[in-house]
Amino acid sequence: MDLVMVTGLYVVIRCNAFPALEIYISLFIAIIIILPSLVLSGGVNSQVAYLLPLYPVMAALIGGYRESLIITILLVIGVILATIFSEHFIDLTEEAYSSTKSIDRGFWLAASIIFSGVFGRFFLKRYSELTEQLKNENIQDPLTGLLNRRGLNLYFSQELDNAEVSNLALSLILIDIDYFKKVNDMYGHDIGDRCLIEIANTLSQAIRKTDIIARFGGEEFIIILPNTQEIEAEVIAEKLRVLISEQKFSEFKLSLSITQGLTQRHSDNDNALKMIKRADKALYKGKEQGRNCIQRSE
Ligand code: GH3
Ligand code: MG
Ligand code: MG
Repeated sequence: MDLVMVTGLYVVIRCNAFPALEIYISLFIAIIIILPSLVLSGGVNSQVAYLLPLYPVMAALIGGYRESLIITILLVIGVILATIFSEHFIDLTEEAYSSTKSIDRGFWLAASIIFSGVFGRFFLKRYSELTEQLKNENIQDPLTGLLNRRGLNLYFSQELDNAEVSNLALSLILIDIDYFKKVNDMYGHDIGDRCLIEIANTLSQAIRKTDIIARFGGEEFIIILPNTQEIEAEVIAEKLRVLISEQKFSEFKLSLSITQGLTQRHSDNDNALKMIKRADKALYKGKEQGRNCIQRSE
């Protein structure tokens, strides 16, 4: 019977034919096979009983919190009933019953099942935390903590879809630090990095919660402004320009400036790549015109 149970579980997990039903098939096996086999082989005195605490963990792995809780409760009820009625079971092991021994075993069995349920819960919590962390690391720039290009692509396309469906404006600002190479050349790469972190902080604190900011390249940033016309974006860009030009960066109190290229979503067949290209063209114009300025795209 143990073999049938373990094989049944293995097949359920391996075949993966009905992922959504796996947990219910496991529950079915638990109720139809394990509990009767437990009864037939001597209730809580049975050898099978000691496999029961595996079930809440299995349920947590295959299903989730809710399924693990259901199976923990079902098994604990089963064990309590088996303890109460243990004298009436057919003992295939032909072991003599002792009611105090059965109560002891029933107690420890129920305790192990509950422990296993709690363990399953902690396991799942840690697992979801790690998955979330991995997901964030995947879309985050390690230096500045802003979104990286992958993160930008993800959120930008979502915002573009929203804007298209609701027919709302959407603006984009491409920011490039002026003469940044000089900072590295004169003060070293670590001071350059420090400046990048401080600029990233200033920019992200100055924008709205609904705006999206990403590190687009080495010393380039992109800000997506949902529900914002280009003319409104220009006001925000000017605020950013003033903030950066007035701030002193790193322990060397360096003065820096940014040049910004602006564009907004066109209603006809626009996309992320086209918007970035337009903003880049505008930015290039800004660089040509002396830097520390804002240029709108045509
Ligand atoms: P411009 O005003 O024309 O933008 O001049 P620039 O010197 O900023 O432009 P350029 O593209 O020639 O140089 C960008 C520099 O940014 C090159 C590189 O040294 C620096 N940079 C890029 N990524 C990083 C980084 O992660 N850390 C540091 N410290 N520097 C970086
Ligand atoms: Mg650059
Ligand atoms: Mg630059």
